[in-house]
Amino acid sequence: MVNLENFNKLKKELENAQVRLVAVSKTKPAEDIQVLYNEGQRVFGENRALELAEKYALLPQDIQWHMIGHLQTNKVKYIAPFVAMIESIDSIKLLKEVNKQGKNNNRVIPVLLEFKIAEEDSKHGLEIEEVETFLRSAEIDQLTNVRIEGVMGMATFTDQAEQVKREFRHLKEIFDTLKNQYFQEKPFFSTLSMGMSGDYPLAIEAGATQVRVGSLLFGNRS
Ligand SMILES: *Cc1c(COP(=O)(O)O)cnc(C)c1O
Repeated sequence: MVNLENFNKLKKELENAQVRLVAVSKTKPAEDIQVLYNEGQRVFGENRALELAEKYALLPQDIQWHMIGHLQTNKVKYIAPFVAMIESIDSIKLLKEVNKQGKNNNRVIPVLLEFKIAEEDSKHGLEIEEVETFLRSAEIDQLTNVRIEGVMGMATFTDQAEQVKREFRHLKEIFDTLKNQYFQEKPFFSTLSMGMSGDYPLAIEAGATQVRVGSLLFGNRS
């Protein structure tokens, strides 16, 4: 069930900090999304391409859909025509495929580079070395139909606040390095997406410009 009290509280908190909210609606029905839409929320996050495409078809057209989960290259085509941002670019191969599908759809697709900052092996993400190698190569000039707008990451799922803080600070460092070294003349490189229901205050403290919050707003997922 949607928790409007939590939503309104979080909204105020984020407005004060000037942080953007991605309401993570994965596994939740369209009716729940419509409730937050009616409260003014426009940015929603999903972690499966087909579920995202289904919800896109059912819900108001001015919703900005963010893909936040691991995306297989063969599924990019289902969301490429309309997706507002793909936050989960976890390989150069995927980045190239998104560019190709952007071209097919005659649009430029905003993306974030996902970095692995957590200790857990299960988490996806790029390593800084491979990204820097790619950004320095001539290949980057061929990517005319994606726009790299920042970075995304997930901290370890733990109640050890110090560890989570350390991981968020690490992602902020990666963000600053890329911005200063490769995107200095590119003001659109401005999104640092980190923080979820359990750790978003720590993420904001570490400099997040965007948080992805699900269960706090929509209730626990079964
Ligand atoms: C599910 C998910 C979230 C939201 O998690 P909550 O704990 O429900 O707030 C954020 N980011 C990603 C990548 C997710 O998969």
